[in-house]
Amino acid sequence: MVPKILDNVKRGFIKTFPQAFFYVYGAIRPYPKHFIVETTNICNLKCKGCNNPYLKREKRNMSIEEFKHILAQLKEIGVNHIDFDFCGEPLLNKDTLKMVKLAHDSGIKTFFSTNGTFIDQYVDDIIKSGLDEILIDLDAVESKSYLKLRVGGDFERVKNNIKLLCDKKNQMKSKKSHCRSRLSHNTLQ
Ligand code: SF4
Repeated sequence: MVPKILDNVKRGFIKTFPQAFFYVYGAIRPYPKHFIVETTNICNLKCKGCNNPYLKREKRNMSIEEFKHILAQLKEIGVNHIDFDFCGEPLLNKDTLKMVKLAHDSGIKTFFSTNGTFIDQYVDDIIKSGLDEILIDLDAVESKSYLKLRVGGDFERVKNNIKLLCDKKNQMKSKKSHCRSRLSHNTLQ
């Protein structure tokens, strides 16, 4: 009799433990801490493999008022990290860096990836916004292979923009806007 009871308890525990774990975990941390906010779904490129050129939804920029409304809610649930990109070029919304600054001033870590075309227009603002990290998609080490992936891009301009941002950061002695770039294995063959 006793072993049977123990057996049932054991089986019941195995069945309910995962539920109990997620219940307790959910109670402690009911919302994600890391959010992505798409400030625009407009883009100047037509990169291979990207959905942007085929998007069916309306193409537009988020307004600063819309973002403030979102930010208030994200602060309420304790979000501590926002990525300001998704399926568009963040620097094609002239207010993206103002949104980054609002998030930064609220103590939220910030990041976006960019195709790098417009950095020259915003270089000071990028650093002053307090952006924690920027990923610049160069993908290749020379123009021909770059253009195979980044259709419509300008390799020299992006390359110069990476240098410009790094120089500006040094000049302004900024520890913000940690700058990363990446290469694609497709372009190294
Ligand atoms: S730059 Fe980004 S959003 Fe624009 S087409 Fe390329 S991958 Fe897509």
